Amino acid sequence: DREMYVLKARTRGLPTPMDGGADRLRLETDLHDAAARGELVVHYQPQTDARSGQVLAVEALVRWQHPELGMVPPSVFIPIAEDSGAIDQIGAHVLRQACRTVTDWYVDGLPLEVAVNVSASQLHSDSFADLVRTVLQETGLAAHRLVLEVTETQVVADAASGTHLRALRDLGVGISVDDFGTGYSSLAQLRRLPATELKIDQSFTTELPDSAAFVSGIIALAHSLGLRVVAEGVERPDQLQALIDAGCDRAQGYLLGRPAPRPR
Ligand code: C2E
Ligand code: MG
Ligand code: MG
Ligand code: MG
Repeated sequence: DREMYVLKARTRGLPTPMDGGADRLRLETDLHDAAARGELVVHYQPQTDARSGQVLAVEALVRWQHPELGMVPPSVFIPIAEDSGAIDQIGAHVLRQACRTVTDWYVDGLPLEVAVNVSASQLHSDSFADLVRTVLQETGLAAHRLVLEVTETQVVADAASGTHLRALRDLGVGISVDDFGTGYSSLAQLRRLPATELKIDQSFTTELPDSAAFVSGIIALAHSLGLRVVAEGVERPDQLQALIDAGCDRAQGYLLGRPAPRPR
């Protein structure tokens, strides 16, 4: 029936495994209960203090270990899960796992914060803040150790999401604006968001040190709004140095550590 899937996908002009892409139909069906089947694995990538290099936090990044297709990256299955509605279940699973993991590390004497990515539909849902409250209670994680990563475009147009973000902020949870600079929000809108952190998108980090003036400007702006700044995608020492010179607070990227599963 694998051939059948490929055939169906081909007739609908969708990518297939043979095309080097993912078979969307198959993935959508399989994703439905991937969490229940235990196929979702959460990896953790360190975020360090830019200057001292001390690990302060981890970002939870989900992977899907598909029984036949192997490891499916989130860039492939998250958009499908968002379309099919499976994202709410997947997101809840990742949130629970991530909070459990850092609580266990805290008990072991390793106090870290954890950042969890949140999709637009999750944030739009009236029950999301309740889910977060419940997971914090269940796991015993202090609210200030949890940071929710949202993208600018996700929040800007949606009034309900704005209201939910404020409710989450009132819980004491941190709010990070992910992939900053790639969306269409204005500075006025950024000012109105109840955010605590801004993540400089990888595309700007990659251009360092050439983009140093631009990145310094973003960091100064973020600081003037009282936001902490994390740079994503730091791969080289010269990029890290440019970020330190620009006053960046935290760094994340392959130079500091790759996403990895929780050690057993
Ligand atoms: P993101 O939240 O912006 O996460 C950063 C991505 O950059 C991750 O890709 C990470 O592995 C990658 N990365 C980190 N350091 C470097 C580096 O130095 N160089 C390069 N080239 N890449 C680096 P990943 O894990 O494939 O995740 C891709 C995207 O999928 C994430 O982007 C996020 O938007 C989404 N995602 C991942 N997990 C979740 C989740 O649990 N829920 C939701 N809604 N989205 C998720
Ligand atoms: Mg993120
Ligand atoms: Mg990002
Ligand atoms: Mg990104």
